[in-house]
Amino acid sequence: MSSRAYVGLGANLGANLSATLTQAALRLAALPGTQVAALSSTWRSAPVDAGGPDFLNAVAALDTTLAPLELLDALQAIELAHGRERSYRNAPRTLDLDLLLYGELTLDTPRLTLPHPRLGERAFVLLPLLEIAPELGHLAVGEDWQAQRIERLAPLSL
Ligand code: ADP
Ligand code: MG
Repeated sequence: MSSRAYVGLGANLGANLSATLTQAALRLAALPGTQVAALSSTWRSAPVDAGGPDFLNAVAALDTTLAPLELLDALQAIELAHGRERSYRNAPRTLDLDLLLYGELTLDTPRLTLPHPRLGERAFVLLPLLEIAPELGHLAVGEDWQAQRIERLAPLSL
């Protein structure tokens, strides 16, 4: 049986951020037992709680038979393949892949928290997510995200 998962993609280092997100989406589509059901537009956003260049963000909806930790392993392998160095939280990164939601699952373990703990407070997650899953509007928390600078750009296509 497959589950609907949502993955947040973000990049703010590298010469071609939109190519990075496209390559990441292709890698998601190539995961075993996994289909990309929907892709948001790309969105340009100001870094939150950090300096550095603007981010390019997107969200992918996946239908997958991978278990949650298998999917997290796969996301981290894709990050590594893009040369990500884990320096500190919110550090600039070539590619960040966050597991936002996995079905209705809630989980609080050292490696994996679901839903993603900051999902509802971040415009760069909420706006692309609601673009492809408008029924998830109840996940928005507070009003801080409404003040974050973000702009919708081109669709992300495979
Ligand atoms: P952030 O995305 O918050 O800036 P990282 O991408 O470096 O930070 O993630 C730090 C750790 O968060 C990872 O080692 C991972 O095990 C953990 N983690 C917990 N829940 C999740 C989740 N839902 N999606 C992705 N990583 C998660
Ligand atoms: Mg992350």
